[in-house]
Amino acid sequence: MTSVRQAVAFEPFTEDHQAFRRMVREFCEKELAPHAKEWDEAGAFPRELFRRFGELGLFGIRHAPDSGGSGLDYWYVVAYAEELTRSRNGGLGTAMLVQGEMATPIIGELGTDEQKRVFLAPALRGEKVAALAISEPDAGSDVAAIRTRARRDGGDWVVSGSKMWISNGARADFLTLAVRTGDEGHAGLSLLTFPTDVPGFQVSRKLDKVGNLASDTAALYFDDCRVPLRYLLGEENQGFYYVMTGFQGERLVAAVTAVAASQLLLEDAMRYGQERKVFGRPVASLQVWRHKLAEHLSRVEAARWLTYRAADLFNRGEVALKEISMAKLVACDLAQDVAYDCMQLHGGMGYVTETDVARAWRDLRLLPIAGGSSEIMKEIISRSVGL
Ligand SMILES: Cc1cc2nc3c(=O)[nH]c(=O)nc-3n(C[C@H](O)[C@H](O)[C@H](O)COP(=O)(O)OP(=O)(O)OC[C@H]3O[C@@H](n4cnc5c(N)ncnc54)[C@H](O)[C@@H]3O)c2cc1C
Repeated sequence: MTSVRQAVAFEPFTEDHQAFRRMVREFCEKELAPHAKEWDEAGAFPRELFRRFGELGLFGIRHAPDSGGSGLDYWYVVAYAEELTRSRNGGLGTAMLVQGEMATPIIGELGTDEQKRVFLAPALRGEKVAALAISEPDAGSDVAAIRTRARRDGGDWVVSGSKMWISNGARADFLTLAVRTGDEGHAGLSLLTFPTDVPGFQVSRKLDKVGNLASDTAALYFDDCRVPLRYLLGEENQGFYYVMTGFQGERLVAAVTAVAASQLLLEDAMRYGQERKVFGRPVASLQVWRHKLAEHLSRVEAARWLTYRAADLFNRGEVALKEISMAKLVACDLAQDVAYDCMQLHGGMGYVTETDVARAWRDLRLLPIAGGSSEIMKEIISRSVGL
C-alpha cells in the first residue's frame, strides 16, 4: 500500500536535472566566481561570456529546438538560476537571465521565422546581446503609461521616445521593445524586435547603481528610428498582454534567484560564524546567532517550496499569476532580511565592499524593486483574491 508520505512526495529534479545542475555549478564556481570582485570593480564583465553561456546551452534551455534551444522543461531553468548565484555576482546573473529568460522567450512564442532567425537564434548562441526595453522615465510600475511611440510610415515603424533602466541596454544588439501604437492606456501598446544599429538610436547614458555593478543598465533614446513593419511581435496593440505574460517568467526566476542567494548567504554565514571567535567562542555558537540562522533557514525553506509550487504550475502551463506574485514577494523581501543579518554576523568584514556578503547585500536590494516591485506584487495578490 502506498503510504501517505509517498503519495504526496514531490521531487521536481530528476537525475538528468541534477547532472545539468552539477555542470552549471562547476562552471560558475570555476570560471565566474573567481572574477566576481574584478568585474564588479570594473563595472562590466567580458562580452565573450555571452558566447560562453550560449555554447553551454544556458540561454536556450526552455526555447524550442528549431530556434537553437534545447526544449527542456522549466526545472532545468530553476536549476540553472539557482546555480548561477554561485557566480557571486548579481550583475552578471541579471545580464544572463535577461538574455535567456526575459528578453527572448516572447520572440520564441510570437516571432515570425525571420524574427527567430535574425534575433532569437543568434541570442541563444550568445552572438547577439538582447535587452528587454519596457520601462520609461515616467512608466515603471505603470506599464500602461508608456509613451515611446511607433507610427506607421510606408513599410516602416518610426520609433520616437526614451527608455530607462534597461539591463544590457548599453551593449544590446537588439531590444524587445514596448511601444505605443494606439490610444492611451494599456490597449494601445505593441512589441517590436528592434535592432540597435538603426540611425537615431542612442544610448543616452549608462546608469551608476548601488549594486549589480557588473551589469550595464542604460537610458536609451529613439529619434525617429525606422524598423520594418514586419518587426512587430505578435498582434498590434496586444503588447500589454504580452508584457504581462512575459513578466511571469521574469518574476519566477527572480524568486528562484532570491531563494538560492539567501541559501548561499546562510551557508557562508554558518561557515564564517564557526571560524570567527568572539570572547573565546565561535560567533555561531552564541544562541542569538544559532537561533537567527535557524529562523532564516526555516523561512528560506518555506520560500523555496512556495517558489517550487509556482514553478510547477508554470512548468505545466497553468495560470499561476497569484502563486508567482506571492513567490516573488516573499522570496525577494526575505532576501533583504537574510542579507542584512548575514552582513551583521560578519561584523566589520561584512562592511568591506569586496566581500561576497557585501556584494550580495548590494545586489539583492534590486529584487523587490525591479520586474514588478513588492508593492505591485501585493496589488496583484490582493486583486486576485477579490480584495
Ligand atoms: C538595476 C535595474 C534594472 C532594471 N532592468 C530593467 C530592464 O531590463 N527592462 C525594463 O523594462 N525595466 C528595467 N528596470 C525597471 C524596473 O522594472 C522599474 O524600476 C520598476 O518596475 C519600478 O518602476 P519605477 O522605478 O518607475 O518606480 P515607480 O513606479 O515610480 O514606483 C515608485 C514606488 O512606488 C511604489 N508603487 C508604485 N505603484 C504603486 C501602487 N499601485 N501601490 C503602492 N505602491 C506603488 C513602487 O513599488 C515604488 O516603491 C530595471 C530597474 C533597475 C533599478
